[in-house]
Amino acid sequence: MKNAVAIAQGPSSFSSSRGVVLTQSVVVALSIAAVISLHELIHFVVGRITGIPAVFTGLTSAGVPEGTAALYPQSALALMNASAPLFTVIVGFGLYPALARWPEIFGRARYFFTWWAIFGIPYLGLQMMIIVNHVDSSGHGADSAAVAGYLHVPMSVRAIVCVMGFVLYMVSAVWVLGVIRAVDVDMQVAHTATNVCLWRRVLGGILIFGAIACAVTVARRALLGTFPGPYMVGAFLGWALAAAVLTPWRSPAARVVWTHWLLPGAIGMAALIPFGFIGGVNDYASIWLPIIPPVVAAAMFASRDVSGVSPIARLAR
Ligand SMILES: [Zn+2]
Repeated sequence: MKNAVAIAQGPSSFSSSRGVVLTQSVVVALSIAAVISLHELIHFVVGRITGIPAVFTGLTSAGVPEGTAALYPQSALALMNASAPLFTVIVGFGLYPALARWPEIFGRARYFFTWWAIFGIPYLGLQMMIIVNHVDSSGHGADSAAVAGYLHVPMSVRAIVCVMGFVLYMVSAVWVLGVIRAVDVDMQVAHTATNVCLWRRVLGGILIFGAIACAVTVARRALLGTFPGPYMVGAFLGWALAAAVLTPWRSPAARVVWTHWLLPGAIGMAALIPFGFIGGVNDYASIWLPIIPPVVAAAMFASRDVSGVSPIARLAR
């Protein structure tokens, strides 16, 4: 995937030998673990500041012990639950222009911090989507659902936010691509605008329709008070599969996304799964599910050259 320009720019490009991919996988795992740990620390600190005796209730959760939420003011609980997802999203969107404009200040840590953006940008849509989950004060559930519960947001509103969140989650892959383009020189020189054959476009379209139908079903089930079940998973996997089918994987841009981002990302996420069963099931078991699809979709958008769509990409230039 290297060409003259990328080689000339040397350290700015991410080469793709087996050793490099494995090193990048370790960096991905460390990066995601670090941002999740910081997120939980924010819950903990904000909880303590607002007078809630917050505790770490698991490897990836902080809050009050189950069943004790009624003892504390709802506004303080809402603040404790809202602070950390806001942090994750602000870090994600904030790093985008920072990585694009001043890559040199990140130095060798650029790859590490790019994953905070890859995680944090689609995280806004993800939190909007899981706002229909049940309210959990111990930190094991969805932050946005806890905030909506404490603020008494009606389920009808939460259901609409859920579907809008999934659409935003899908769209945010364009910004994920923007971040990847900003830091990866090989991406900047890779040819784009390749297409896939008709049957793949049809199948991809059906899968996108199916993914959105899954998100709508999640919202409908929330309104009926029934468990979203496999539909939440179906929405993420449907979108990832659609993007995979619609990506011309032989195109140079898609290959760069694969070797520099998707493959190390998948290995790094897989390495985190065993940690998802330490001290009860925690987020590390399933965090790959919302993180991987936007990277697959970035490969799809990369081969269609939609970078101009992103206002943040323009801002970052
Ligand atoms: Zn949280």
